[in-house]
Amino acid sequence: MFKSAALKLTLWYLTIIMALSIGFSFAIYRLSSSELEASASRPSDLYNLLFGPNNPGINSLRAAQAQKDKNHLRSNLILFNGAVLLLGGGASYFLARRTLKPLEETLELQKRFTGDASHELRTPLTAMQTEIEVALRNPGLSQAEAINLLKSNLEEVGKLKSLSEGLLELATAGKDTPNEQVSLKNVANDAIGQVNKRARERRILIKNSSKDITVIGNHQQILNLLSILLDNAVKYSPKGGEVKLSAKTKDRQAHITVTDHGQGIAKQDLPHIFERFYRADKARSKTTTGGHGLGLAIAQKIVQLHKGQIDVRSAPGKGSTFTVRLPLAR
Ligand code: ADP
Repeated sequence: MFKSAALKLTLWYLTIIMALSIGFSFAIYRLSSSELEASASRPSDLYNLLFGPNNPGINSLRAAQAQKDKNHLRSNLILFNGAVLLLGGGASYFLARRTLKPLEETLELQKRFTGDASHELRTPLTAMQTEIEVALRNPGLSQAEAINLLKSNLEEVGKLKSLSEGLLELATAGKDTPNEQVSLKNVANDAIGQVNKRARERRILIKNSSKDITVIGNHQQILNLLSILLDNAVKYSPKGGEVKLSAKTKDRQAHITVTDHGQGIAKQDLPHIFERFYRADKARSKTTTGGHGLGLAIAQKIVQLHKGQIDVRSAPGKGSTFTVRLPLAR
């Protein structure tokens, strides 16, 4: 599809180049040939002196020379336009490919996103469908079995709901302009409040050492960012573990770190964990944590919108530290 678009664009570019080149050549030819004709018919003092005034032989010689010069000019201009056609064709194709490349990449990303999203949607839907079909084929379905089925279906509905919420968050992150004065201490406390339930269930202690720092941003978005990082730290920590949250000023920036002592991330997964739908351990994350691989993509988008940076230091079995750097409020 992009090949034919590139060819079409090449043709357009080439048409413009050739229209300009032929137009200029035509103008040059017209101007030069009328100049040549005029100078051939103009009496020259030197010719008059040498061959007498209005010598017909000399006049026809001069007209023939003018005609020869015009022919020469015409062939040169045709050659020039041929060269423009060849070089312009190559340059136009190169420019057309360059123009279309970002579009091609965006479309490729979009395609991958749609494919990944439909795969994520299909998994819980297929599970629900199979369970319901099996139950319907069982005429003696007991009440206990029906309740179990509903419970399992409810779990799948929960997954679908969290997926649609994640997708919505990914699409809308950045809708609100990050221009509020945000106290990192307050956001940190709010974020801990959001993950406390899961942390308590897993007997995980969250230690908060956030200083009273103010950044320019959007309170809700920074809250989402910290909740995602804390939620991951809790999810991927062993039961009874400890998670540390800190916010301090360093190099005239706000440095927020979330550290856990959990399973860590393998070296080959590190470059991909901020990609949408990427899970380091697909089978395990799906069954034990229920994640869709959207959290860190949302986190990265929020950080980028706040003109900050996010990075991670992690090793398998040694835990992970996510660091977010945000510009300080002036
Ligand atoms: P998920 O919903 O699967 O947690 P994320 O985008 O938040 O999606 O994370 C992507 C992947 O990065 C996770 O599936 C997990 O493999 C890895 N990951 C993220 N945070 C941590 C962490 N604190 N410890 C270990 N692995 C992590």
